[in-house]
Amino acid sequence: MDIIYRFDPYAPLDLKRPKNNREALKTLHQGNCRFYSMVNHLQNVQDGKKVDSMVVPISPVQLGIPVVGGLEQMHSPFAAVLGCADARVPIEHIFDCSSNDLFVVRVAGNVLGLECIGSIDYAATALRESLQSIIVLGHTHCGAVGAAVKVYLSPSSFAEVAFSHPVRTIIDRIMVSVRSAAEALQEVHGPKVSKNKQYKDLLINASCFVNAAFTAYDLQREVNAVAKGLTVSYSVYDMAWSTVNSTPIRSAEEAYDAHAFGTAPKNPEALHAIALEIAQCMKPSKS
Ligand SMILES: [Zn+2]
Repeated sequence: MDIIYRFDPYAPLDLKRPKNNREALKTLHQGNCRFYSMVNHLQNVQDGKKVDSMVVPISPVQLGIPVVGGLEQMHSPFAAVLGCADARVPIEHIFDCSSNDLFVVRVAGNVLGLECIGSIDYAATALRESLQSIIVLGHTHCGAVGAAVKVYLSPSSFAEVAFSHPVRTIIDRIMVSVRSAAEALQEVHGPKVSKNKQYKDLLINASCFVNAAFTAYDLQREVNAVAKGLTVSYSVYDMAWSTVNSTPIRSAEEAYDAHAFGTAPKNPEALHAIALEIAQCMKPSKS
């Protein structure tokens, strides 16, 4: 099978940009659907199925190449994304976005440190003309969230994490989400859920989603202080299925039923309701 990247220097420039939060989220979701479709196409090749070659048109604008030498593009992203530093989560690829589409801030565990807030404040003010949306993007099997869960479940066994100040700055920010996910799992599945042999994995998975929602809640309050009318949303990239979803899924089909993005909760009660919804999507094994 061939994948052909077809470069046309004279292709008409598509300057259509999302004009509001709803259009921005739709553009991101459509981009993720194209990414999922390409992944699926490649997996069909791996499975030995006969597939057509793919032609991917590319333009100078998509690549960030100045159309005329000596001229640089205006910085005009339509969305800001706070994502994890994990190398398996390439944000522009996941959303099939081009150069200058996304203002991306990446840090382990997609936690909200001061430098992250400063970067996003810059985007929300200096780039406000083009910026229509802000997303917190977590991902499944996040190592930073996994470390926080391990410290939560067994602090004495993870002294190297628990007593490392640089690592603690990340773990501590995730711990509230882990506690919130643990409470939600117990409320939905009963107190015995913590004895389930898959409990650690359940808690890590639930915490990845709660952490994205919690960070969105925190970030929305920060953004409100510097820019009016910018909505923060959250989502989680599922590394097994290549889709973005606001609640856990167990198959690509379930991604069609789940919303791609959730709106940042407005208060702690709304955050707890989201944690319960996430816990309801988890299916503990019988043990
Ligand atoms: Zn991660």
